[in-house]
Amino acid sequence: MRLLNASWIFLKLKIDLRNPETQFALEVVRAGSSLARRVCSETSIRSLTKSDNSPVTLADLGIQAVAGALLEQYFPQGMLVAEESTDVLKSFEGPADLEKLENYVKAFFPQATSQAICDWIDRGKAVPGPSFWTLDPIDGTRGFLRGGQYVTALALIREGKLEMAALGCPNLKTPEALGRHLGLLVLAVRGKGCWGTALEGGDRWIPFKVSHCKDITQARILESMEPGHRDVEKGKCIRKIMGIIPEPLPLDSQAKHVVLAMGKAEVFYRTLSQKHPERREKIWDVAPGALAIEEAGGRVTDLDGKAIDYGCGVTLSNSPGFVATNGLLHEAVLKTLSEVAG
Ligand code: AMP
Ligand code: MG
Repeated sequence: MRLLNASWIFLKLKIDLRNPETQFALEVVRAGSSLARRVCSETSIRSLTKSDNSPVTLADLGIQAVAGALLEQYFPQGMLVAEESTDVLKSFEGPADLEKLENYVKAFFPQATSQAICDWIDRGKAVPGPSFWTLDPIDGTRGFLRGGQYVTALALIREGKLEMAALGCPNLKTPEALGRHLGLLVLAVRGKGCWGTALEGGDRWIPFKVSHCKDITQARILESMEPGHRDVEKGKCIRKIMGIIPEPLPLDSQAKHVVLAMGKAEVFYRTLSQKHPERREKIWDVAPGALAIEEAGGRVTDLDGKAIDYGCGVTLSNSPGFVATNGLLHEAVLKTLSEVAG
């Protein structure tokens, strides 16, 4: 009976798991999540602050190295546009940290040398071309350090269009239908839907669909956990205008996009920061989660309701802010955000 069930669900999966791009994407986020969990299990996690004031750990660097190595295996000519670089490595404290990093990577590539690890990390410095992968090895490093939500997020972009996304979410639970395991893996392919499985040992996949909520007053709004990443007063004002009853759901990282794609929330937006109105999103912070939402039936646009331009480089400079919804509530949210901005 169990076999019958599993094969029924497997047959329903529209994504070809034997496709090398799919295999690469799944291997990157599974390895990334496993490396992150290993680092989490250690007594203390050392972190440094980068020039943009965001934290980085050896887990961020280790995951990016493993992704670079896998890219070399699967697609030697493939391009990777990723968050980290070895520039930060010299700020970690000497040989002990470097040995740790080497050990993390050697769990996946036993032959790894320190030079190879640096080269793999810096494969992520590619300039976006017509076809490339974008990776945030740990999206939500602050959440990772706090024991909260974080995600290894990867997307494939071709000719400015999102083609594939994979998100490894070690601290999100799988839905009831998959048994409420800790650790969720999400895979989305353009035109083939958004699917979820257990991060470890998952061979059963279920389709993710956004919620059917049409009533704006019942909308569940996701927001950043980090106080510096959200504007509490503006948020209150926006909820008041729309008459929204539920309290907002604070969550780190693109776990927010995944929760929206699963139908457990309806709205997530990022308006321009009052302190830094010039700030724009990085491509790896938006692309993977956006495809998951779109393929689950939702909508993701900039604050003017226009499609996000993924073809303009590392920084989404043509797309100020963004709005992600279940689709049904999109226009209402856009209208309110423009009123508040006005
Ligand atoms: P979140 O998980 O929502 O806190 O956002 C995580 C990502 O968004 C990180 O990559 C942050 O660097 C970035 N981010 C979001 N809002 C801001 C902000 N106001 N200032 C700087 N970075 C931000
Ligand atoms: Mg990151």
